Amino acid sequence: LAELGGKLRSSLHRLQGGRGDDAITTETLDAVLRDIGEALAESDVRAELVTDLKDNIRRKVGDAVSENTASSNANLARQVQRAVVDELTSMLTPSGEGSAKPYVMRRGRPNVILFVGLQGAGKTTSIAKFAHHYLRRGWKTAMVCADTFRAGAFDQLKQNATKLRVPFYGSYTEADPVSIAEEGVDRFVQDGYEVIIVDTSGRHRQEEGLFEEMQEISAAVNPSNTIFVMDATQGQAVYDQARAFHSAVNVGSVIVTKLDGHARGGGAISAVAATGSPIVFLGSGERFEDLEAFNAQSFVSKLLG
Ligand code: GDP
Repeated sequence: LAELGGKLRSSLHRLQGGRGDDAITTETLDAVLRDIGEALAESDVRAELVTDLKDNIRRKVGDAVSENTASSNANLARQVQRAVVDELTSMLTPSGEGSAKPYVMRRGRPNVILFVGLQGAGKTTSIAKFAHHYLRRGWKTAMVCADTFRAGAFDQLKQNATKLRVPFYGSYTEADPVSIAEEGVDRFVQDGYEVIIVDTSGRHRQEEGLFEEMQEISAAVNPSNTIFVMDATQGQAVYDQARAFHSAVNVGSVIVTKLDGHARGGGAISAVAATGSPIVFLGSGERFEDLEAFNAQSFVSKLLG
């Protein structure tokens, strides 16, 4: 995303211009919007979102630009910049039907957090990062492995849990993920854990069986929040995936992974926001620390540096 940020910054730079005597004109604004649109398209943001964004900016500042004189350049540049920031922020803010506020964790109570997502999306890694995040803030945290589908899933979770020193629950012999989930959650609720994370099977693609299993586990553990983990490298293609998961289970939050070093991150984040699912964290690497809380406003300020 550093590349996208650089391009957006340099397009806004056109407004500062070297030739102070020339007024910012409609042509300048067109060039700025064209550059911004190209930068967003390169980051794989959906064409409709880009068009809306450009139209909204033009609606907000178009009149001021056409009436501008050189003496108000500085003022106008600020106005355009603000419009760009606001529109980028609203593009990345979940809106529309069914858009929910992210779940707020409650201290001193069991928060059962169900993780879902396709295999390879980064679910197990994100669970470890999520646990690390809450552990560091003093929450009593535990993990349950209800993925009996992928060989090695329990070992991977166990390894992370051991490194983080959090208790874990799982089984090498029990084949029913629903009963593992139920038993593990019951145990940690009884023991007074505050953040009880449940890992589920990802499989290779969206399929009936996967959704059925997720729904059964969800019914058994009655999660406080269900977090959907998705891979940013797929760009805007995640839109359909997010919608499918959203309608299969009651997705309350989204974690977008692999934002480090991939050009399609803007596409993924804006696509998720368009589905109305609140993004809560971004994954930006393979270490436990590589998880950033997501807030559209501060994300955009950081992007435009
Ligand atoms: P799962 O099948 O969804 O549980 O996926 P894993 O957690 O096993 O992750 C799949 C691969 O993606 C692993 O090689 C992870 O190290 C890697 N991965 C996960 N999250 C990130 C991330 O934010 N950035 C990068 N670069 N790699 C990640």
